[in-house]
Amino acid sequence: CGIVAYVGHREACPLVIKGLKRLEYRGYDSAGVALMNGQGLKVYKKKGKVAALEQELAGKDTHATVGMGHTRWATHGEPNDVNAHPHYSFHRKLAIIHNGIIENYAAIKQALLKKGHTFTSETDTEVLGQFIEDIWENNGGTLEDAVRLALQEVVGAYAIVIMNEADPTQLIAARKGSPLVIGVGENEFFLASDATPIVEYTKDVIYLNDYEIAVIKDGELRVVTLDNTTTTPYVHKIELEL
Ligand code: GLU
Repeated sequence: CGIVAYVGHREACPLVIKGLKRLEYRGYDSAGVALMNGQGLKVYKKKGKVAALEQELAGKDTHATVGMGHTRWATHGEPNDVNAHPHYSFHRKLAIIHNGIIENYAAIKQALLKKGHTFTSETDTEVLGQFIEDIWENNGGTLEDAVRLALQEVVGAYAIVIMNEADPTQLIAARKGSPLVIGVGENEFFLASDATPIVEYTKDVIYLNDYEIAVIKDGELRVVTLDNTTTTPYVHKIELEL
């Protein structure tokens, strides 16, 4: 029910955890983070409050310059550690967080099961992550292409953020029906369900529109629509002080 992500020069983990706490008012049953520092994509997640996740992280090497976190409001699969986000894709090339509901997840899951995929969680979200990776592996295009093609098939509501194990400068986000705000800093980007986790770092924000995909890579942001038209996002100046 809450999303925070960061890519830039700061330590991602404490920033993401702090942001998740600012979104606690939205309500949730579990929380998790994915972190990357060029040595693999690590996921930590836990049923319960963000404080329980912090305990899970204590003593671990959480150094990362790209990271994302999620607080979950379960819709598909009970609240437990396994169903908590982030979810790895089948070959663990990607990690995904998601707010919303993928209504046609069962049909997509059936098709992937037929191809030999197995699933660790009961969530609609894991299905979307595996679907994107499967298209990426079989289509030969970029991850961005795969996200676009997958989302063209999706019925439902989503705000998603995806991390790519092969590229520690990259975050891909998209939305339809669930909110997603992008904070634009200097050589750094923030993503969140609302602006409250972002405002202490930058006042420049972009409200992603439905059917738009934000691709952040090598310190650059590009926004494309699901039909692959590049758009020029409007950068709002936030006035509010928190
Ligand atoms: N439908 C997803 C799940 O049950 C996402 C729920 C949410 O918005 O937190 O895991």
